[in-house]
Parts: sequence; structure tokens; C-alpha cells
Amino acid sequence: MDSKDKIIINGSKFSFRPGETILQVAERNGIEVPTLCYIKGSMPTGACRMCMVEVKGARNLLPSCATPAVQNMVVETESERVIKSRWINIELLISSGHHNCLTCEANGDCRLQELAYRYQVETIRFPESPAIYPIETSNALIIRDFSRCILCGRCIQACNEVQVNNAISYGYRGTASKIVAVGDLPLDESDCVFCGECVQACPVGALIEKPSRFKGRPWEVKKVQTTCPYCGVGCQIDLHVKDNEVIRVTGTEDATPNLASTCIKGRFGYDFINHSERLTSPLIKENGKFKEVPWDEALSFVADRLGDIKSKHGPDSIGVFCSAKITNEENYLAQKFARAAIGTNNVDHCARL
Ligand code: SF4
Ligand code: SF4
Ligand code: SF4
Repeated sequence: MDSKDKIIINGSKFSFRPGETILQVAERNGIEVPTLCYIKGSMPTGACRMCMVEVKGARNLLPSCATPAVQNMVVETESERVIKSRWINIELLISSGHHNCLTCEANGDCRLQELAYRYQVETIRFPESPAIYPIETSNALIIRDFSRCILCGRCIQACNEVQVNNAISYGYRGTASKIVAVGDLPLDESDCVFCGECVQACPVGALIEKPSRFKGRPWEVKKVQTTCPYCGVGCQIDLHVKDNEVIRVTGTEDATPNLASTCIKGRFGYDFINHSERLTSPLIKENGKFKEVPWDEALSFVADRLGDIKSKHGPDSIGVFCSAKITNEENYLAQKFARAAIGTNNVDHCARL
């Protein structure tokens, strides 16, 4: 973009739109400023202090996520002072809870761990704060480990701003601070709808998906992008596949229409894929009993029967029912099959009304 408004970041001049923050200008121009609490598209909270930068003329370091770019502002994102501040911040966050990465499900996919490595934090000078809240495991889908929570607030924003479920918020004060559902109830007794958006937003191992726990480390998993099979919205999801088994589902970053969000079905309803009772071959009913047949035989059987009905009773004696559970492209093919192959306009869809 070209604009008369210019900001200088790390010695290079960049244009910006009025209202853009330093972080947004930096990201748009390929300058990575580390963040923990920032969620693209949500209101910046400045909670984690990881994105602090040095601005010429300012006495203190400023949070780049919440500081608007100003004409001729001079910014350093990796100065000695900035790095020292991030270093101490990481040490404080690690000592604020129980961070034994060996036993943590987030090991290898943890923003705090990644930043500690990047900024070469070798020792933690502060004593570890004791865990004051027990791990919550009472529901079937989400484990909450408060001892690993860095209180960044991403889960709250994911719940309240992205999904607009308003199920969680900050509770208590000071060292007793905690992310709580209304009345500090366990999630399964609260307004939570188990969409899992908070788990995907959590940058550390404080929120874990129970069904995928111990099923595979991030580096053992291959991500395969696909379209969610549950409704006609067409959300883009990533299947996390290990040894040909889907062990987890996440929303695909930056892909439309869902921009990484999913509902409970898209995120947690994948166990049918590898279920032992799933039908894997077609069945034909003979003498009141189903028998497994190869696809060729099943398709020929259906084609013969449809052909018979059509020649005896005409094409309009046949109707084709589609479903919102298949993709728009598959629905298109189904109506094409009805109209072009059978010759009828008798096509209907469960999402019509
Ligand atoms: S949350 Fe991150 S830093 Fe903490 S134990 Fe887990 S992997 Fe390690
Ligand atoms: S699962 Fe969904 S509704 Fe429940 S707390 Fe997380 S984001 Fe909110
Ligand atoms: S649960 Fe995760 S996302 Fe929520 S405040 Fe704690 S660390 Fe941040």
C-alpha cells in the first residue's frame, strides 16, 4: 500500500492507514513481533506484554498491539531493551505456574515454549508459584489445567468476541486470578457449548482436548485440510492425522468462510471416521438380510432398478434427496444427476426450509 502516512520500523519506512497499530503495520510488512494474547480481528488487550517495542521519544516500552502508528514514529522491535523485557516477561510467565514441558500435551506446539527457546531463556530465577486450583477433568471434551494458564485472556476473547458465547471471563484477583465460567462452575455445568474455540486459541497447554490427549505429538501429525462434513456452510478444517487415524480437528487459519472457527460438531465429531462400526462397503438387502457387495455391483444394482422404475412409471416417479451434510459441489452433482441422468426436477434438500 502507498500512503503519505509513514512509520519507521527497524530502520525501514512503511505506509500505514489511519487507526492501524504498530503491530498491524509490522505484520503486514513481514516483521514478526512476538505475541501471546493478541487475536487477529479482536480488540487488543495488551495483557501479555510480549509485543512491547521501543518507540523513540517514549519513556516506557509500548505494547505494539494497542499503540496506533503515528506519522514519522520511529520504532525498534528487537532492541536490547526490548529483548531484555521479553526475557524477564518469559521468566515470570514460566515461574507463574507449573511448566514441566515433558508431560504437557502442548509440548512442541506451545507459544511460551517457543518464545523461551527463541529468546534463549536458560534459567528461571523466580520461584515457581504453587498450583492453587485443581485440574478440571469433569467433562468429556476439554481439560482445564489452571497451573499452566498464563492468564493471557485469548480463551475469553475466542469465547466472547469470536463465538459470542459469553461463557467465560476473568475471575478473582491477584495471584488467585483464574479463568472462570459463570459462578466458577465446571464447564459442563456452565453456559459453555463446547465449541472448543478457547482450546484452539490457548497458546499454551492450559486447555487440552480430552479425546486427542496422548494420541500423538505435534511433530508426528500430518495436517490435511478438508471441508467439514456436517452442514452446508463449508467450514475449512485441518484433520490431524497420525498413522492413518484422525486424532484431532482444528479450524484452518485464515481460510474462509470460518476463519479457523468451528462448532462442536466440526471440532469434536470426528470419531465416526475411524469407528469400528463404520460401514466401509455397500450393502444390498436380499431376503430381508443385508449382504456386503463390491461398489461395482451396488452401483449396477441401483442403476438397473432406477432404469426399471423410469421405463415403467416415467422419470417423475423418481425423486432425489440431498443433504446439507455433503458439500455444495456434491449437492450440485446430485441435482445434475436428477435432471440430466434421470430427467426429473424432483430434487429436494433438508436445508431448504
Ligand atoms: S504450557 Fe508450554 S511451557 Fe508450559 S509446560 Fe506446556 S509446553 Fe511447557
Ligand atoms: S468451549 Fe466454546 S463456549 Fe465453552 S468456554 Fe470454550 S469457547 Fe466458550
Ligand atoms: S486458558 Fe489459555 S488462553 Fe485462557 S487465559 Fe489461560 S493460557 Fe490464556
